[in-house]
Amino acid sequence: MAKYSETIERLIEEFGKLPGIGARTAERLAFHVLKSAPEEALALADAIRDVKTKVRPCKRCFNLTENELCNICSDERRDPGVVCVVEQPKDLLALESTGAYRGVYHVLMGHIAPLEGVEAEDLTLDALVARVRAAASGGTPVREVILATNPNVAGDGTALHIAGLLEPMGVKVTRLARGLPAGSAIEYANKSILTDAITDRRGF
Ligand SMILES: [Zn+2]
Repeated sequence: MAKYSETIERLIEEFGKLPGIGARTAERLAFHVLKSAPEEALALADAIRDVKTKVRPCKRCFNLTENELCNICSDERRDPGVVCVVEQPKDLLALESTGAYRGVYHVLMGHIAPLEGVEAEDLTLDALVARVRAAASGGTPVREVILATNPNVAGDGTALHIAGLLEPMGVKVTRLARGLPAGSAIEYANKSILTDAITDRRGF
């Protein structure tokens, strides 16, 4: 089969590595870039470079940030005594969009899923435990940890594991109220359901 030049083939190959992009779409995207104005195509390249060089996890909660601490951890109006544990930064954004929560967060960067090769030690759990422990020995103690993992098998299993880790530490552990359909995802829940879920949270 005839091939394009090496440079074009490389671009097609890179697009093809993106999730949900098959060979034909990769080719179409590559030709879109070829046809587009130089500044437009280079803006895409710059955006990719910037996101990989400037964005990093918050030192405290692992939310995405361009600074040492994210905008929530560095906001003095937030209550550091209540920590909401979420799987991904997008869950944090969904909960933030409700405006109903004034505590801080802890982002796990995933959920426990042995079949996918994700074990508890791959998540930011050590950092969470260290955070609760450090807060107890100085600074603002953590009064409550809200487990806001997704209401599905992996999320529930992860929440159960975390509750077990926190139990000996004597911190109050709650989880989002019912109302989120089982098997659903926080990121797709509508605002009023999420607001109720975080406001009417219950003991674990
Ligand atoms: Zn943070």
